[in-house]
Formats: sequence, C-alpha cells, structure tokens
Amino acid sequence: MIKVAIVGAGPAGSYCAYKLAENSMYPFVFDYSHPREKPCGGLVPPGAEELFPFLKSLPIPHSERSTMTMITPIGRRVVIGFRKGNLMGVSRLKFDQYVLDMAVNEGANLVEEKVIGLERKYGWWKVRTQRQSYSVKTLVGADGVNSMVRRNIVGSLSRMDKGVCFGYFVKGLENEDVTIKFLPGKKGYMWIIPRGDDTSIGVGSAEIRHAHELKKELDSFINSFCPQSEKTAEWTALIPNVKDTKTFHIPIAGSNWILIGDAAGHVDPITGSGIVYALLGGELAAGAIAEGNPQMFNEMWIKKYGKQLLLSTKLRGWVYKQPLLEFYCIYLKVQNATPFA
Ligand SMILES: Cc1cc2nc3c(=O)[nH]c(=O)nc-3n(C[C@H](O)[C@H](O)[C@H](O)COP(=O)(O)OP(=O)(O)OC[C@H]3O[C@@H](n4cnc5c(N)ncnc54)[C@H](O)[C@@H]3O)c2cc1C
Repeated sequence: MIKVAIVGAGPAGSYCAYKLAENSMYPFVFDYSHPREKPCGGLVPPGAEELFPFLKSLPIPHSERSTMTMITPIGRRVVIGFRKGNLMGVSRLKFDQYVLDMAVNEGANLVEEKVIGLERKYGWWKVRTQRQSYSVKTLVGADGVNSMVRRNIVGSLSRMDKGVCFGYFVKGLENEDVTIKFLPGKKGYMWIIPRGDDTSIGVGSAEIRHAHELKKELDSFINSFCPQSEKTAEWTALIPNVKDTKTFHIPIAGSNWILIGDAAGHVDPITGSGIVYALLGGELAAGAIAEGNPQMFNEMWIKKYGKQLLLSTKLRGWVYKQPLLEFYCIYLKVQNATPFA
C-alpha cells in the first residue's frame, strides 16, 4: 500500500512531494508529461523568495525586474516599482522540472504514468494508470485545472469558474520590461513577460466567451508594439477563474484526500497568479498529511491565503471597470506596491 500518492507534478504536486520527502515521508508522484512546457506567463511576484528560499538562487535561466509597466485602458503608461524584491519570469519547462528534481533528489518517487481511474474503497483508494493499479492510503490531487481527481471527489470546476488564455512564446523581447495592458471590456489583460531565454506574450480573459476575439486583439497588439519578435510556439489554455465565492467554500480535503493548486481553483481571479498559491498549497498539504490529518487543510489554506482569494473574487467585477482601472494603476504607482501578492 502506497502511503501518499500525488497526481500531477506541476509546482503544487512537486513542492508537496518535496516537503513530504523532507519530512521522511516518500510519496509517489504520478505525471506522464515531463519535461513539458506549460502555457503560462511564468511571472513570480516580488516577495515570493521570502516564502520559498529556493527561489533566491534559482539555477535556471530566468528574468528579474524591479519595475513593471502598466498600460491603462486609455493608453497611459504607468511604471510601477516594487518596495521589496523583484518580479521573476520563468519558463515552466525549466521551473517545473527544477521543482520536480528537488522532490526526486529528496527521495520522492516519480511514476511516469497517467492516472486514468480512481475508486474510493473503505479507507483507501485504488488508483489506476494505463499500466497497472495502485492501492493508496492518502491521495493528493495536483492535476491542474481539469483535475480528474477533483472530478471524481467533489466535481469539476464549472465552465463559469474558468477563464481562457491565448498566446505565444517569442524571441527578441528579452530586454523588455514586464508589461501589462488592461482590456476592461474583456475583463482581462495582455502581458509581455521576459523569462530569460525567451518571452511569454499572451492575453487572458475571465470569460471563455471572449476566446475567439482574444487572438485578433493580441495579434494586432504584437503588430503595433513588437513586430520584430519571432514566434516559436502558439498556445491556448484554460485557467481557474473563480467567480462565485461559494466555489471556495466547497471542501477540498477529507480524511484521506486533498486538492491543491489549480485543482483546488487556487488562482487569483484578478491577476491570474497561481504559481505561488500552488507552492503554498503544496507546503500546507504536506504539513496536514505529516500531522496525520489531511482534512485540516480546509482551514489551513483559508488562514494562509484564503482571505486574499476571497477578496479578489468579490472585487473582480469592479476592478475591470474602466475608470477604476485608471485609478488602480495610479494607486499602485503611488504606493510603490505589488498587484500580485
Ligand atoms: C496562460 C496562462 C498564464 C499563466 N500565467 C501565470 C503567471 O504569469 N504567474 C502565475 O503565478 N500563474 C500563472 N498562471 C497560473 C499557473 O500556471 C497555475 O496556477 C499553476 O501552474 C498551477 O500549478 P499546479 O501544479 O496546480 O498545476 P499544473 O501546473 O497545471 O500541473 C498539473 C500537472 O498535472 C499533470 N496531470 C494532469 N492530469 C494528470 C493525470 N491524469 N495523471 C497524471 N498527471 C496528470 C499535468 O501533466 C501537469 O504536469 C497562468 C496560467 C495560464 C493557463
């Protein structure tokens, strides 16, 4: 019987595995996809390195910026500096592999198989992959926005609670500032995020119905802003974007299971920031499992970062109103503050 199985080796699953292994619990991590690039901005907020010391000396190509440029709905450019720490831009190919390697080097077991079935037994789980079945005592669902673990236990995130993103990885913009251009009509924004070796340039909207318009809007932005950039990959992706606080009140842990990261819906619905919540969720889940009480994760995440996600969920409709966005950018500049916490 496997004591702990983690489905998904993104930042949530791998960091959870790392923290468990550090505590001499050696989980099995199921993921068939590595090495893989994930469609993502790759932006890690200032201050994250205080929470996760391994970020202070990240030995993979990445960018660091002490400022960010925001382009407001009326086209005003506002440059924001940060009081503490830098913004980092990372490639998810390299970042996710790095966190997974940390876990494996600490003693976690990587099973390079896709989980295709899940059965709840009396006090344990039967986890089925394409090759075989595993008996598991405690199960962690870290398998992303379309989590099959979540679907089997509490039901999937609804279409309403997802947003959509479209974009490219490009070469030639590696010296740009991190740039955010707001799209109030689409409740979203475009981004340029240098990641060291290349740059993520994309657009995200809280509303899936805008998907077909996003590509046109992004392409016309690229044609006017950076026609010299060379596209190396194109992608479309879903992202958790919880619109009703009730979603966050659904339990995401029980006596022998926990959902973390995107599988839990833990992405800021205004900024789209999820990497730090994935790492935080992974760390807290490892703590709850080590205590022998996975269910306590329900209170732990609310206490640590839940208030912030709930507040963003309540404010998301207001923030994207055009005059408020103008004010928001000026406010951030005056505060010398970070919009991604
Ligand atoms: C376009 C886009 C841009 C974004 N930009 C940013 C940003 O700039 N900054 C930020 O902080 N956040 C950003 N996010 C959010 C961020 O990417 C996620 O919140 C973060 O990746 C969540 O990590 P995770 O480990 O929960 O899930 P994921 O990173 O999605 O990892 C899930 C893993 O589970 C595996 N898996 C899935 N199903 C199975 C299965 N059945 N069996 C085995 N393995 C399985 C997958 O292969 C994958 O490796 C962005 C998201 C998108 C879509």
